[in-house]
Amino acid sequence: MSFDADVIVVGGGVSGLAAADRLSSSGRSVLVAEARDRVGGRTLTVPLGRGSESVDVGGQWVGPSQDRALALIGRLGLETFPTYATGENLLERRGGELLRYRGNIPRINPIALANVGQAQLRLDRMARRVPLDAPWTAPKAAEWDRQTFATWLGRNVAAREARELLALAVAAVWACEPEDVSLLHVLFYIHSGERFDDLIGTDGGAQQDRVEGGMQQLSLGLASELGDRVLLERPVERVAQDRDRVLVRAGGEELTAKRAVVAMAPALAARIDFEPALPAARDALTQRVPMGSVIKCMAIYDEPFWRAEGLSGQAASVRGPARVVFDNTPRSGSPGVLLGFLEGRQARELGAVSAEQRRGAVVATFARLFGERAGRPEAYLERDWTAERYSRGCYTGLFVPGAWTGFGHALREPVGRLHWAGTEAATLWSGYIDGAIRAGEAAADEILAARD
Ligand code: FAD
Repeated sequence: MSFDADVIVVGGGVSGLAAADRLSSSGRSVLVAEARDRVGGRTLTVPLGRGSESVDVGGQWVGPSQDRALALIGRLGLETFPTYATGENLLERRGGELLRYRGNIPRINPIALANVGQAQLRLDRMARRVPLDAPWTAPKAAEWDRQTFATWLGRNVAAREARELLALAVAAVWACEPEDVSLLHVLFYIHSGERFDDLIGTDGGAQQDRVEGGMQQLSLGLASELGDRVLLERPVERVAQDRDRVLVRAGGEELTAKRAVVAMAPALAARIDFEPALPAARDALTQRVPMGSVIKCMAIYDEPFWRAEGLSGQAASVRGPARVVFDNTPRSGSPGVLLGFLEGRQARELGAVSAEQRRGAVVATFARLFGERAGRPEAYLERDWTAERYSRGCYTGLFVPGAWTGFGHALREPVGRLHWAGTEAATLWSGYIDGAIRAGEAAADEILAARD
């Protein structure tokens, strides 16, 4: 097989594969070099160990306005089904009190509740003023990019419980702490998914639906159409370019092409040796967009027993360590699966203890929320994305203060014959599977529009 093509795509996540798919259907020859022994990157579907049921240990949900993801799901003949959301949700407060509530709003004290509502409205209003293709040009970009989200919370949200709930939402959406991320980035990201509620919501929000058989099928489906043009276990170590060609060294092999798409998070792209060295702004950007921290944990039971007790399986816990919990039972209704996320500080701390201790801590949260039966799962599985060599964290890259205003312009700017994809490069639904597809397609369109 010839290792020469019109375009080499570096990274076989859904973004790189969407780029390759668009290029190939427009008549360009492509090669995809993927480091892992599988495609799908931050999406991964594994067997549940019960019959043919499987579960996503990476990205899994799709929401109503995620049109490119929905289009691909439809094109591949896959089906979605709603995330289980019938019954009451739970909130565990700092002191351990459990509140049962319906819808999005727990019955905490009215002042804290009003604080949360006002903060959301203000954030949505500010977010609309951030241009998605150039956040650094927002009228207040400089002011918003010199503070972390924690600074804003401290100055603008008076009630402690309101700040705690908003910090919990930050963990759920960005897998980080409020002090880890620039306010401007939070606003860009909200606008990119439309409104705060769309990011945190189940019905009508980003967590609305799951894919029957798992989300990795999007990448597996695209890869199977591309066939032997997808090269697995080819970690790209070096990308060199001159005026006419790109030369990629991947797993000891040399691939050549007219152009390349680098389809991964900036922090991962930073580990590749570029020749000539990348422009200073692009290189500096890659040093300022660290990944979030998440460990996705699931406990498996003979049945989803909480449903019979009128509970949706959705819970938020200020105490943690699993701060955000969902019912992740397969569509068939069996076995019962509780999903808990360790995010931000919890992922960092519990990533450092033994697997047994981590399991104990997660299952103890489930037992406090759903009763002692939840403390006795039949099985348990987890995926620590901070320990994945070719992800180094998730869900997405986090822009720290100063990154957007100082270097954001380099995020999508091609460098000679190199183009950038990966969900971080998306304008709509950045950080999500939908954004990854959009960014891949946009990079492909740039190449199709280029002269050679
Ligand atoms: P990636 O999937 O990271 O793809 C990059 C690829 O590049 C990888 O395959 C990697 O192996 C490869 N690579 C890295 N370095 C090299 C190298 N040197 N050479 C060659 N290849 C290399 N999104 C949603 O929309 N809904 C969700 O519910 C959701 N939940 C999530 C839950 C978890 C636990 C995680 C981890 C992510 C979640 N996400 C979710 C985010 C979503 O999975 C990502 O936004 C999306 O998969 C990113 O795709 P990508 O192609 O941009 O990047």
